[in-house]
Amino acid sequence: MNENDSDHIQARVAVVGGGLAGCTAALRLVEQGFSDVVVLEAADSPGGRVGTMSIVGQNLDSGAQFIGPEQTELLAIAAQLGLSEVPMYTDGQDIVRHVPGSNHPELEYFVTAIDEVAASLDLAAPWAHPDAVHLETSSVDAWAHTLGVTDRDALAYIASIVESFVGAQSGDVSVLWFATFVAGAGGWEQATKETLSSRIDGGAGQIIDRLAERLGDRVLVNSPVTAVVQGESSVTLTAGGVRVTADRVVLACSPNELCRMTFTPQLPAQRNELNSNWSFGGGVKFAVAYERPFWRDSELSGTIMPGPTTPVSRIWDNSPTDGSPVGILVGLASRRHVQSMLPPTEEARRTLIEEYIATSLGIDVPPPIGYVESIWADKQWISGCTTANRPGTMLTCWPTIREPIGRLHFAGTETSEHFTGYMEGAVRSGSRAAREVGALLRHNPTV
Ligand SMILES: Cc1cc2nc3c(=O)[nH]c(=O)nc-3n(C[C@H](O)[C@H](O)[C@H](O)COP(=O)(O)OP(=O)(O)OC[C@H]3O[C@@H](n4cnc5c(N)ncnc54)[C@H](O)[C@@H]3O)c2cc1C
Repeated sequence: MNENDSDHIQARVAVVGGGLAGCTAALRLVEQGFSDVVVLEAADSPGGRVGTMSIVGQNLDSGAQFIGPEQTELLAIAAQLGLSEVPMYTDGQDIVRHVPGSNHPELEYFVTAIDEVAASLDLAAPWAHPDAVHLETSSVDAWAHTLGVTDRDALAYIASIVESFVGAQSGDVSVLWFATFVAGAGGWEQATKETLSSRIDGGAGQIIDRLAERLGDRVLVNSPVTAVVQGESSVTLTAGGVRVTADRVVLACSPNELCRMTFTPQLPAQRNELNSNWSFGGGVKFAVAYERPFWRDSELSGTIMPGPTTPVSRIWDNSPTDGSPVGILVGLASRRHVQSMLPPTEEARRTLIEEYIATSLGIDVPPPIGYVESIWADKQWISGCTTANRPGTMLTCWPTIREPIGRLHFAGTETSEHFTGYMEGAVRSGSRAAREVGALLRHNPTV
């Protein structure tokens, strides 16, 4: 990166967004020999939907956390950065009393059908599926009815799984989108179980810390990109008070964040439609700490499964593995929970969540010693946690998702064929964008 003067930077490649996708793209470009890279991050620190929060002296993931064995690129970059995974604690019984439909025989119809659709999708082009129009215009909820799932508990269970995957209600998610999400994760069994099997020891936030360390002063924070102007031989970005000129640009933020930037020339109509139709579910991640993981004494795993009327989604045992005696439970609340089940103040949320945990566990619960939460809907530059596209909004514009436009390239978990919505998808997309740009720069050094 060349700093010609304090408000003009020239770089070979500018990456917009310092989340996992953007930082991975930058690292992979540097590794290919293109060290002249700048990462422009709007927030005051990199990471995006990966971050760290602390409770009773322990660092926890404030955003993404769970990993599965098939998430090979994430595990590889973690290993490259000297980090390792630890299994989630699963010994003992889960609390499933809130989900009476979880064993209903009608569920089988749904699981079999969604796996069949998932297996029949070409993940490079789900929109080209022969039944795409029907699948895209049906909601998961309506589709489940047509499959013969009529039991209220079974439908409520499906709704709770959909919500925990994509942060939206099953009536608001298209079957094509949901099946693509499930297929990208390797199928229903993998999506519901294996993707939740481990976490990064000490938190996934360390991946970002170490990526940022390696990238050094190439990462510029507090640099929101507001304008992107493509010229004959370069692209000029306005990022806060700085002008950045680059040969190529990797846009590594979620599609709807692109709506906040002006593009000259304008983006094609279908790409604009894609950006503005992309929908997100904001949520809350919280943790409650106790003197020790007392639930283990009663042979409970600490996992509390959600149901239609529970105030939060799933809760897990996230106690430290470093020998510290404390017990920590972490959980997520979706947009629906935030909007209709959780009170508006942190103090009231804390009381409600602590009471919910105590009632759910059904054993003597000692007083908690700490509470912390991270509210994703409040982050200025992040639209939410998970993606859930509404029925009928995506079919015509989806094919533009990772198509370069002139000198602009697209990364971000939403652009990944596999594990879209996951950290793995972010890493894969960053590596793919770096290969795309690297090949162009290598074969034609003047582009
Ligand atoms: C609460 C929560 C729980 C999650 N749980 C899991 C999990 O358990 N497992 C899992 O695999 N995934 C999980 N995810 C999803 C995972 O976090 C994301 O898939 C992944 O981190 C996305 O990375 P990204 O780089 O594609 O996007 P982001 O992380 O969104 O990064 C985009 C970056 O662009 C920046 N930006 C936006 N606009 C601009 C602009 N105009 N100029 C410059 N910069 C801009 C943003 O600030 C952000 O840093 C979770 C997410 C959340 C929020």
